[in-house]
Amino acid sequence: MNSLNDVWQGVLDVLSKDLTQTTITTWFGGCTPVEITDRCLVLYTEKPFHRNIIAQRFAKNISAALYELFSCEFEVRVLTGDELDDYNAEKAVQNAPENVPPDMVGYTFDNFIVGKSNTFAHAAAIAVSKKPGSTYNPLFIYGNSGLGKTHLLLAIAHYIHEQSPEKSIAYVKGDDFTVQLVTSIREGSMDEFRAKYRKVDLFLVDDIQFISGKVQTQVEFFNTFNAIYEAGHQIVITSDRPPREMATLEDRLVSRFEGGLMADIQPPDIDTRMAIIRNKAALLGLVISDEAVELIAKSITSNVRQLEGVIKKLTAYKEILNDDTNIDAVQRAIADVKKNGTYVPTPERIISETARYYSIKEEDIRGHGRAKNTVTARQISMYLIRQLIGTTLQDIGSYYGDKNHATVLSSIRKIESLINSDATIASTVRDITSNVSTE
Ligand code: ADP
Ligand code: MG
Repeated sequence: MNSLNDVWQGVLDVLSKDLTQTTITTWFGGCTPVEITDRCLVLYTEKPFHRNIIAQRFAKNISAALYELFSCEFEVRVLTGDELDDYNAEKAVQNAPENVPPDMVGYTFDNFIVGKSNTFAHAAAIAVSKKPGSTYNPLFIYGNSGLGKTHLLLAIAHYIHEQSPEKSIAYVKGDDFTVQLVTSIREGSMDEFRAKYRKVDLFLVDDIQFISGKVQTQVEFFNTFNAIYEAGHQIVITSDRPPREMATLEDRLVSRFEGGLMADIQPPDIDTRMAIIRNKAALLGLVISDEAVELIAKSITSNVRQLEGVIKKLTAYKEILNDDTNIDAVQRAIADVKKNGTYVPTPERIISETARYYSIKEEDIRGHGRAKNTVTARQISMYLIRQLIGTTLQDIGSYYGDKNHATVLSSIRKIESLINSDATIASTVRDITSNVSTE
């Protein structure tokens, strides 16, 4: 006895031992099972009068029948009229994607400004939202940081959730996938991990570049991908670069991704930037002159997140400092955002990201082990600390159990020369650089 209908038929059979067929037909003829959980059987009958009779007179018999069938206690709940819709809506909220960030509210198609640079990605996202799982699967959106990839991904989630609230949606960031996977392996809960992702209707993976490099994660991801794909469910992936440029992404994953639809997002042109500025200002209730819009659009050219940062700053100046939004204020906001916009990672971040990338322990990178992988990872991390932060050789040495500056220097030189002769090293360095370059 598996399906809901089988359970219900079983219950009716048990009931027929105590009740006449006329009683059963009268009260249960229009009654259908809605759901059975581990504790409760939910039924629906159209007429409130029937509901009252079932709930008052027969609930006990139904519970007893369920006990006879399953040897455990069940509650019985009977819905009528509109209650079914409410029940389904409630269930949808409970089944709501647990991973979707709570702040996805603002990320809809309505407030995504379309311009030349993102027309294709936007159209692809809309197409997928309207017919998930059909033509464009997976959809792979790529482009630099701050250009609206996450926005589009969550807009798809929004749209599908609104149209079909019963659909289950999972949103995961590439690095969280890895962390969750490792935790499940450690805790022996791989079955749950698999079940969680493989049954979803819509699988959203943000910043997949963070899983490249980790063999086990890729194997699991590949299996998850196939299960969802073969079930005909939609997958949408974002990345800061196309699959082929992810050095350590397995070939079979690259071809899977390329088998779908690839859509890139470019930095917005000046008109789109101005439209975005106006839109963001309007959303925040900020009145802004044309001159200011133009100044911002000309000063910040390659990152929408920074455009938004300027507007947020201006709003804060206005609210907190009671400042007028004059050109001085605008200039100050631009300068502020630009300064903070050039994010510099810490040495710790570089070391931990390099370790993660090579699937080795941080203490091994920092230690003296001579395994080939460990040595390469150590040298790359030293090279990157020097390149990205400009730390002195001696200070770099102090992160690695006080290695002397000559050792550090020769490591850096080694990588400098490998970058020119070894394509894998070159792209590994590029990958790690990109992974540590956003906050
Ligand atoms: P990415 O994931 O590519 O790094 P995000 O999607 O996080 O970028 O976008 C950064 C910010 O810029 C978000 O707040 C987003 O709403 C906004 N944004 C990006 N592109 C657009 C656009 N075309 N229209 C409106 N807002 C945008
Ligand atoms: Mg993003």
